[in-house]
Amino acid sequence: MNTVVIIGGGASGLMAALELLKHNIQVTIIEAKNRLGGRICTSNKGGFSQPVETGAEFIHGNLPLTLSLLDEAGIAYHSFNDKMVHIEKGQLKQESGLDHYWNKLMKQMAALKHDMPLNDFLNSFFSDSKYADLRTSVKSFANGFDLADASVASTKSLYQEWNKEMKDQYRIKEGYERLIQYLETECRQRGCLIYTDCCAKKISWRKNEVNILTMCSRIFKADKVMLTVPLSILHATSNSQYYVEFEPLIPEHIVAAGNIGFGNVIKIMLEFTEELAKERIKHAGFFLTNEIIPTWWNQLPLNNTILTGWVGGEKVTSLKDNTDEDLLKIALHSLSNAFHVPFSDLTTKLKAYKIANWYKEPHIHGGYSFNTIKSVEAKKILRKPVNDTIFFSGEALYEGSPGGTVEAALSSGKETATLLLKTLQ
Ligand SMILES: Cc1cc2nc3c(=O)[nH]c(=O)nc-3n(C[C@H](O)[C@H](O)[C@H](O)COP(=O)(O)OP(=O)(O)OC[C@H]3O[C@@H](n4cnc5c(N)ncnc54)[C@H](O)[C@@H]3O)c2cc1C
Repeated sequence: MNTVVIIGGGASGLMAALELLKHNIQVTIIEAKNRLGGRICTSNKGGFSQPVETGAEFIHGNLPLTLSLLDEAGIAYHSFNDKMVHIEKGQLKQESGLDHYWNKLMKQMAALKHDMPLNDFLNSFFSDSKYADLRTSVKSFANGFDLADASVASTKSLYQEWNKEMKDQYRIKEGYERLIQYLETECRQRGCLIYTDCCAKKISWRKNEVNILTMCSRIFKADKVMLTVPLSILHATSNSQYYVEFEPLIPEHIVAAGNIGFGNVIKIMLEFTEELAKERIKHAGFFLTNEIIPTWWNQLPLNNTILTGWVGGEKVTSLKDNTDEDLLKIALHSLSNAFHVPFSDLTTKLKAYKIANWYKEPHIHGGYSFNTIKSVEAKKILRKPVNDTIFFSGEALYEGSPGGTVEAALSSGKETATLLLKTLQ
């Protein structure tokens, strides 16, 4: 029987495992954390009135693989209020340069022949002073939501993401972890061995033979190995405790991984004893502000008083080393300004909170990938197995859109498993 070890038990690793198990491959998953799911992490702790998503939360569109798995598993999902408003001091604000010039921006992005970093694109086509506000808001949009660094981010790739109409978006009321539980059950029922608290440290290999040494000195042997670890792990240098060593080295693939971007994010979940938004802004689901924690959303149409704050990209750099208590204070100050509610009211009405600082999250160290202008080539390399023995998978390898998502991770897992199966025939 052919044997495969999958390193990483997130959406991609579990999906790949299931696909291989369906073809009678003996699969072992080794996961560094004490839980499966990786960047899917639903929290049921901390006194919230319902589960909160510290990682992935939304299904961005009618995404075929995610929705078919949810349907197969009988997991309910619902659409939500995605109306976005700009607010300041509790009042609706004028539209930004981004809203004003959005169509012009999209047209220019569509017409771009040769890809270039977003900064260069804006400086080339929107250099006039009347576009100053547009330049700032486009960069902060790319940074905040795509976690993309404008000095290297691919303009063509951002266009692909932004040009998609996101009409249908969904949430899973019981939490994304239900999807992970479903995949885990399906895998175990087919005989998959799953080890948590098991961190791969060194991969010694030759064609169709791998030995994987873990931090706790276990050795796993298999014909092939599939790495589904976040990009941050492949970016790690040999002095990092998270570095995975290859013997012999695989420099082409590691350099390629370095050519795909990986952004940071901090997510803050707060629940209050009562509704904070004033009547005028109550109808919206998402609130964009100029505060340190700039983006907030509620759970409409669900009737609860949970608010989620989001800060992504470069802004995380100055915040990432704060303690959770400091981040909570910063978040409450941001909300107090944006919603125009006294800080002291917020602290007395605060019922539950959870800070998810993904920069500090062991074995993950960041949010999700973004495409640089070198990513197309880099993904081609990473998607090619090393000697039909070492395979890579994960959200960062997905070539479609939307990237950096659960759908991207599941699709990549399935594709890589199919590719691996071909090497067995
Ligand atoms: C805050 C946040 C919000 C997000 N929001 C959304 C959203 O709303 N919608 C959406 O679709 N996507 C969202 N995403 C992205 C989505 O969560 C990811 O794209 C997806 O879950 C990645 O899955 P993966 O399997 O590729 O990687 P991961 O989930 O990161 O799995 C990789 C696993 O590898 C493990 N690992 C690392 N090193 C080792 C090692 N040496 N040995 C063994 N195991 C190791 C890690 O612990 C991890 O469990 C969000 C992500 C974050 C962080």
